[in-house]
Amino acid sequence: MDEKQLRALVTSILAELPSGGEGSGADNFAPKTAPIPLEASARHVHLTTEAIESLFGKGAALTMKRSLSQPGEFLSEERVKLVTPKGELPGVAVLGPARKAVQAELSLTDCRALGLNAPINLSGDLTGAADVLIVGPAGHIDAKGCVIAARNHIHMTPADAARYGVSNGAYVQAATDTARPVTFGNVAVRVSADFALAMHIDFDEANACAWTQGASVTIRPCGKRDGTASPETTAAVAAVPAAGQPDLPKLITESLAKTLAQSSQTLLIPKGTLITPAAKDVFFSAGVTLKVQ
Ligand SMILES: [Zn+2]
Repeated sequence: MDEKQLRALVTSILAELPSGGEGSGADNFAPKTAPIPLEASARHVHLTTEAIESLFGKGAALTMKRSLSQPGEFLSEERVKLVTPKGELPGVAVLGPARKAVQAELSLTDCRALGLNAPINLSGDLTGAADVLIVGPAGHIDAKGCVIAARNHIHMTPADAARYGVSNGAYVQAATDTARPVTFGNVAVRVSADFALAMHIDFDEANACAWTQGASVTIRPCGKRDGTASPETTAAVAAVPAAGQPDLPKLITESLAKTLAQSSQTLLIPKGTLITPAAKDVFFSAGVTLKVQ
């Protein structure tokens, strides 16, 4: 069993552990918080087969240096230089395998240095992407509309998604366990059988939270169900939680939780209130934030 398999096993065992018995108090509210590995991605490009030949020579292919956490993905030995009228970045990593579109993923700090106004997009979404010249040892390509600042996201398998009570396209908050703790909002959840459980951030974000190897995040819902609300909306909802909230009984059961989840995104829970595990699951799945008073 290698480290990755062991990590996955420990994560799955932690996720199975009960978060508190039937009689646990509201202040023990602990949704499915098994930690998720937090990985930082350095600036890099993805290339097409044609682009690889233009940059590294006819018949050239990428040479694997080491594999990455997502199955099949690898860091290659090859490097390119990115050039704009305002500046250049040498030694930029090339990730393999070849893709259908050229894409450069840079931090916002990199973009500033290059004078680029790149959108914050999920990898693969080149809407509004900026232009850059990519230079290799055998040639260069004028890569139009290919620079993005990668939007942070969490990769997980369908089994992970079921355990965490989220689905593909959901958005969550992710709190780091790092020396400078940061909670990222509106983190996109991407679900595929081909993925390995990990959250990906860029190096601006990594430095912001003082990321180190082995860091992890715990996630909770963003307080919305369809992934369309903005972080501002989420903050506004959290700021006015008590408006119109009914008086709560001392015990919140699953059926009551279902009723409450239909009308409230945030609930103020008086200290000492008992919430059954099934009720906690209802709140978590519905994205309801519980605030213990
Ligand atoms: Zn990723």
